[in-house]
Amino acid sequence: MAERTLRGARLGGQSFEDERGIEFAARQQVGYKCPQGHEFEITMSVEAEIPAIWECPRCGVEALSTSGIEPEQKVEKPARTHWDMLLERRSEKELEDILKERLELLRGGEIGPAHLHRANAKKRVAG
Ligand SMILES: [Zn+2]
Repeated sequence: MAERTLRGARLGGQSFEDERGIEFAARQQVGYKCPQGHEFEITMSVEAEIPAIWECPRCGVEALSTSGIEPEQKVEKPARTHWDMLLERRSEKELEDILKERLELLRGGEIGPAHLHRANAKKRVAG
């Protein structure tokens, strides 16, 4: 259960709330153009993350930013490997212990591919 709640916690933790909302925030005009050809500008704080898409005030269709911001550019997400996910559940020490345990079973012919399994088991009995 904990694994699921942890998942999104690291991303997007960058809201500055309004602790310095009293200060004058620098503004910028961000241009958009909808597929119908309506062009408009939205005033935003320079600190704001500029959305790639804004709803056209005239026809309600999604308009694309004219300042070259591409939608679906989610670069922030760090790639998580299987190893990373594994380390979230087990420490390296634990993993080493598990590996050791499994290797012992494998060498003892108790686990592993069937052909190895039997051959090793027989050898063991014989030896
Ligand atoms: Zn429009």
